[in-house]
Amino acid sequence: MKTQRIIDAHVHIGRSLNFDMKETDVLEAMKKYNIEKVLVSNSESAEADHEQKLLPQELQISQVKSLEKSIKFANENSGKVYVAPWFKPKTEKISDELINLIQKNLDVIKAVKFHPYHSALDFDDCLMEPYLDLAEQFNLPVITHTGTGENDCPEKVYNMAKKFPKVNFIMAHMGLGSDNVIATELIAILPNLFGDTAWVPMESTINFINKIGSQKLFFGTDLPIDGIDTYHHNPRGERSLYQDYFEKLPDLIAQEDYENLMWKNALNFFNLD
Ligand SMILES: [Zn+2]
Repeated sequence: MKTQRIIDAHVHIGRSLNFDMKETDVLEAMKKYNIEKVLVSNSESAEADHEQKLLPQELQISQVKSLEKSIKFANENSGKVYVAPWFKPKTEKISDELINLIQKNLDVIKAVKFHPYHSALDFDDCLMEPYLDLAEQFNLPVITHTGTGENDCPEKVYNMAKKFPKVNFIMAHMGLGSDNVIATELIAILPNLFGDTAWVPMESTINFINKIGSQKLFFGTDLPIDGIDTYHHNPRGERSLYQDYFEKLPDLIAQEDYENLMWKNALNFFNLD
């Protein structure tokens, strides 16, 4: 493996649902796998469970509280950890407290994050619009989970990207559970649509780069969803698809494209130090 700078633009912290994503695991994985910087969002902002049933009030953690935890983690790891606040458009309104918290911490907040599945909310629902206005106001890119469902399909992100042409949108996973073809085609159409590689097979990434180049894709993984070795294997010892990105991909695409994907795009796009 060549020495290579790596920025992971899709990382989590937080205990919610069946997830337990520890800050110490993020830091340990960064050290072990030579990851220079990460962009984290706190999964404790999940509004709905895996069946899309809204969590009871006593299990809901406010978006302000969730963001405060991420900011603390970033401030303790300055220059290495950045934040994408995970918002709760279904159950919460935008408060002055939230706006002030963002305003005060723009040195570490570099994007915003939505999870239509775990908000049980269509990405093009009108409840999303004040939050997208907020992203526009702060000039922050919008990262959203995409899958193959009603809430989170790439077409709904495309709709909102057309409606909010000044906001940049990143389709995380490029349609999780799909062959990534629809997401790739949509990203090719609009200048403000982008993708990330979380759970995207290397073959889809090569197809993406062949079709639209390497400028609109970010390396991301969902670290530490499978523990400190998410980049290598899961807790059952099964090989991670991310191994391909480290071991095979450098020999299959141009070096310039590889650098764009693995760190350069993220450094510039998210305006990291
Ligand atoms: Zn994720």
